[in-house]
Amino acid sequence: MHYYGMTFRPPYEANSVLLQVTVGCSHNSCRFCTMYRDVPFELAPKNEILGDIIEASRRWPYARRVFLLNGDAFVLSADKLIAIAEEIHKHLPLVTTITGYCTIMAIANKTDEELVQLAQLGFGELNIGIESGLDDVIQYMNKGFTLDEARKQLLRLKAAGITFSLNIINAAAGPHRIHEAAVANAKICNEVQPYLIFNSPLHVDEGAELERDVEDGAFEECTVGQYIDEEIEFVDQLDQENCIFFGLHVANPIPVQGLLPRDKSKVVQALREGKKRFPENVLNSHPHKGFEGRLYL
Ligand code: SF4
Repeated sequence: MHYYGMTFRPPYEANSVLLQVTVGCSHNSCRFCTMYRDVPFELAPKNEILGDIIEASRRWPYARRVFLLNGDAFVLSADKLIAIAEEIHKHLPLVTTITGYCTIMAIANKTDEELVQLAQLGFGELNIGIESGLDDVIQYMNKGFTLDEARKQLLRLKAAGITFSLNIINAAAGPHRIHEAAVANAKICNEVQPYLIFNSPLHVDEGAELERDVEDGAFEECTVGQYIDEEIEFVDQLDQENCIFFGLHVANPIPVQGLLPRDKSKVVQALREGKKRFPENVLNSHPHKGFEGRLYL
């Protein structure tokens, strides 16, 4: 299998076939993100993609799920995605879901008919980072779209039959807007009803533009305690019909997950109880990324 540069995937894609169809991220400008900062965006060569699908069919003949790499693989034209999906189904006949990271811009560059065709080929459960329900926060984070555009494109995707998870970064509006951000973040989730909400705190990574803003005093970070308060209010405001709440990113101070609406009060309770167990010095520190297998403390 060919893998170039950094490779990221959501934690729950650990058992998926990782197929590199792009390198880096075509947007590569989000203020908090360093994932592909030094990796120029490129399309993976067609012959390598095909070779990798054939290799995957030998290594994992019973694979049911393929995760397309990298930062926004859905940015490929519908024609290219259709050709890749057809090869996947030809060589890996048990695959039911083809997924990957997706931006709002990548949905916008496809027609409704193309989205329906992609849904029929098994595209679904795309991972989409909208990050905030506040338009000014989306602009500040340089996501490349407006809140209205995000809502419109997510509803188009849904109407075409492609499910998606929504990444929400709580604490991204800073410590003075906790209530406002929690309400707005829940509102956009309630409007578009994702199949999964991927919730994590804003953490300032070394080398990110956001780090400079913090150093210059242009952005004030929330503390861990403030983040947990926002997360509690966010979950409390969610009105989901049938959704997985995934709060297990390595940056989450209190790992929580559940099915909504069924487990909403359990998740809120776990966050309230969890917050009580943290000493003051941790509650007053800033969220950080952590890594798999390490406890937050
Ligand atoms: S779209 Fe995703 S991968 Fe690309 S810069 Fe933004 S957060 Fe990073």
